[in-house]
Order: sequence, then structure tokens, then C-alpha cells
Amino acid sequence: MKIILFGAPGSGKGTQAIVLSEHYKLKRISLGDIFREEVKKDSSLGKEVKSYMEKGLLVPDALVSKVVEENLNEENFILDGYPRNLNQAKTLDKILEKKGESVDAFIYLEVDEPTILERLTKRLVCKKCGANYHMVNMPSKKTGICDSCGSELIQRKDDTPEVIKKRWEVFLNENKSLLDYYKTKNKLIAIDARGNKDIVLERIKKLL
Ligand code: ADP
Ligand code: ZN
Repeated sequence: MKIILFGAPGSGKGTQAIVLSEHYKLKRISLGDIFREEVKKDSSLGKEVKSYMEKGLLVPDALVSKVVEENLNEENFILDGYPRNLNQAKTLDKILEKKGESVDAFIYLEVDEPTILERLTKRLVCKKCGANYHMVNMPSKKTGICDSCGSELIQRKDDTPEVIKKRWEVFLNENKSLLDYYKTKNKLIAIDARGNKDIVLERIKKLL
């Protein structure tokens, strides 16, 4: 199964990608996690992507495509945070076509702006495994410590109100053409992504 998870920042992509990848035995490919890892390592790719990420802008497609091709080597996967614009969607189709494959479903997690602000400004992420928490709605069992791997929880650098606003704008600019693209291909599954993670997961499973 080849699934794409799409939605605004804070729509719950990361959280759902982790549970879905476990449930359906899919390799999880998160572009955001890959880039953050490179930034942390201060690699040449990390140096290139850093300034875009800090501003809430998309990393240029050329850099993104290279990373995707390198990571797309499994039969079953869930893509978290890719594609994010029409060009990336077409690139992905080409990469898969070369192997005689195609995407099975494009899951769109729908939320509104107030929900996103509430979620992101109080979000905590695990430094090591990328698990997401929320200070109020979805706290870890031990404050500041990841339930699944025991590592430290931190706030993401781009989870500040100004950068969140920019990321939301970027999302609004790109989302319509992308949704239309997958709708025409009959791959679009829209999910109401408000509510807690178990409710949203049930909605996804029902429609997949
Ligand atoms: P979010 O969706 O919550 O903004 P992500 O962790 O998915 O967070 O992405 C963080 C940042 O990484 C983005 O703001 C962007 O700079 C970069 N990024 C992630 N995925 C892509 C992509 N497909 N194309 C371009 N840039 C990306
Ligand atoms: Zn963890």
C-alpha cells in the first residue's frame, strides 16, 4: 500500500503517520524529519535547507526530489509531508511510474486555523523518534520525556506564532491544486481532523 498524508501544519500528519505505519506495516517517510536530521548533523543538505525551514518556506523542489528518490525504495510506504505542491505530485508520479507503480490513496486531514494555532504553539516533539505530544491535550506520561523511547521532548524552532502563520499561508497557496490533482485521479480521501488522535485514526481506517 502506498499512502500520502496531506494537511496543514498541525493537522496531525506526523501523529497519524506513526500509528498508520505501525498498523498497516508501512515504511514512514517524513520529509520534515529527514530535513531536521540533516540540519542537526550540519550536513551540506542541512545547511541548504535550514534557512527555508526557519522561515516556514518550502525547501526548493530540486532538493526535495533528490531526497525522496533516495528514500522511496520500499513496496509499502506512507509519505508524511510530501508532496506539498503540484510539481512535487507530478515528480512523485514519475518516480513511481518508472517502477510501474502508483499511489493508492491521498489522505487529506482537514482542520481550521484556530485549531492549528492551538495545537502547534503547545506542541512538543521527541528529539529522537519524532513522536508528537501536546502540553494540554496529549501530554506524555512523564513531563518532558517521550512515552515510546524515553528521549527528551522539545519545542520545534518553527512552532512560533510568526512562523506558524507563514507555514499556514504556504499551505493555503498550494493546497487547492494538489487536492484537485488527486481528486481527478480518484485518490482523494478527506478526513475531518479535528478531535483527538484516536477519533481521527478511526475515521481514516474506516475510509481506507
Ligand atoms: P509542518 O507540516 O508541520 O510544517 P514538517 O515537519 O512536515 O512540518 O515540515 C517542516 C519544514 O520542512 C517545512 O516548513 C519545509 O520547510 C520543509 N519541508 C518538509 N516537507 C517538504 C516538502 N515536501 N517540500 C518542501 N519543503 C518541505
Ligand atoms: Zn521518542
